[in-house]
Amino acid sequence: MSPKDFPSLSESQIGELKESLLQWSLGNGLVMYPPNFEPYSANAAPITLFPTPLPKSSFIDAQNVQKIFNELYINLVTKQKSWLLPILENLSNHDKEFTGKLYETYTRAIDESPDKKLLQPLSLGLFRSDYMVHQDTNEIKQIEFNTVSVSFGGLSTKIGQLHNYLNKSGLYDSSYSYKYYEDEEIPISDSSDKLAKGLAEANTHYKSSSNSVILFIVQPKERNSFDQRHIEYALLNNHDIKSYRLTLEEVTSKTTIKNHKLYIKSTMDEVSVVYYRSGYAPTDYEVNPEKTWEARLLLEKSTAIKCPSVLTQLSGAKKIQQILTTSEIIKKVLPTITETELTLLLSTFVAIYPLDDTELGKKAKKLAFEQPQNFVLKPQREGGGNNIYKESIPSFLKSIDEKEWEAYILMEIINPPNHHNKIIRNNDIYTEDIISELGIFGTILFNEENGEILSNENAGWLLRSKFSSSNEGGVAAGFGCVDNIYLY
Ligand code: ADP
Ligand code: MG
Ligand code: MG
Repeated sequence: MSPKDFPSLSESQIGELKESLLQWSLGNGLVMYPPNFEPYSANAAPITLFPTPLPKSSFIDAQNVQKIFNELYINLVTKQKSWLLPILENLSNHDKEFTGKLYETYTRAIDESPDKKLLQPLSLGLFRSDYMVHQDTNEIKQIEFNTVSVSFGGLSTKIGQLHNYLNKSGLYDSSYSYKYYEDEEIPISDSSDKLAKGLAEANTHYKSSSNSVILFIVQPKERNSFDQRHIEYALLNNHDIKSYRLTLEEVTSKTTIKNHKLYIKSTMDEVSVVYYRSGYAPTDYEVNPEKTWEARLLLEKSTAIKCPSVLTQLSGAKKIQQILTTSEIIKKVLPTITETELTLLLSTFVAIYPLDDTELGKKAKKLAFEQPQNFVLKPQREGGGNNIYKESIPSFLKSIDEKEWEAYILMEIINPPNHHNKIIRNNDIYTEDIISELGIFGTILFNEENGEILSNENAGWLLRSKFSSSNEGGVAAGFGCVDNIYLY
């Protein structure tokens, strides 16, 4: 079965749907703050009107490969640490400003700890592996693997509920002569609950004598705070665990350390898990660098479980993703992988090249100038808006010293199929072709010292879509919208 054609709508149908969608969003927390917001007024989040078709086989592959990716990445920081560290050190020399500061925080935390060993061996990863579907083969192709501050797990659950509401309320039926999908039920991502469960498991293993709490480290003026709140609410409702929210700048004044344990100063609640929804970009440390980097160090040295630890965050560098694309390296990092698993894992990769003095690097340097239209150039950055696309690559490379090229990776462009859907953003409806990026969440609780895995789970999904004419897809960055899957 293939998706039907997208139905056409009259003006009055659009009006009716828009009102229902926006009111449901406001009524149920599918919301974001607008830019430069005043507290407390939020807008409906940018969303699609319909769920977007996704081949069932692509979705199943993405689900099946998640736990393998989780294990692959944590092995980097556990069993393969001595192999990882020199790579990160080299990367730090090229990117002193950020990778270098993170790396320094990692080494200082160890140096300044008793017996030069971190006091908390347990470590938590809430990861998200992002893909686009290859338009000719339906194979999922990995865009990137995120190991820090993965977002939209909360709102993803909400949009699944919204699309189901429209189905059940009969609005889709009454507004359209037919739906472009036949299913009565649209799948709902359980990411809100599953991400909360991951945090709760870490809290359980923390083994505090009193009721411990989870500390969310957030950005000041965070526009996407409702996405985070849904996870907080799930922690409280499903697990009876309280959480607090602090910015990196607030950490030193609002927490206190006793016997290396971390407490919230005002209540003396003991913190079991530090969950970062900030700290992944240079801008998070920019306003007050000394204070915020000190805060990161203080948290890293405490006995609280970090989600993620500095080293786990660093393992998600784009450069590491590039290094991990060969079967030799994968077998080295994850020796227990079966042939079937390896085949699946490798099928998710497109070519990613280093831009260094190796043979491969030299080939890539040529490719970047000869056929830039097939590539995206990526620095070691997170959070959207940092990449250089296609025809802009040659002039960008020429504008920097060739010695600096090594800090970037060159990645083949993935071309997913276009779909018709409607995007609702700032109360306006847009009808343009869209392309989608599927993210699969995973949670993994592990011992950073000996590599033991205490739990490794899938944790729902996210579909984000954007106009096919735009290069980037960040929702918070203003490029895209939250979508949901309908499987065919
Ligand atoms: P970030 O860590 O900043 O999110 P990404 O690697 O996810 O960086 O790139 C940002 C966006 O650029 C992606 O969401 C996607 O829309 C687009 N993009 C990145 N890599 C590719 C690729 N290989 N092919 C097509 N689009 C890509
Ligand atoms: Mg990223
Ligand atoms: Mg991304």
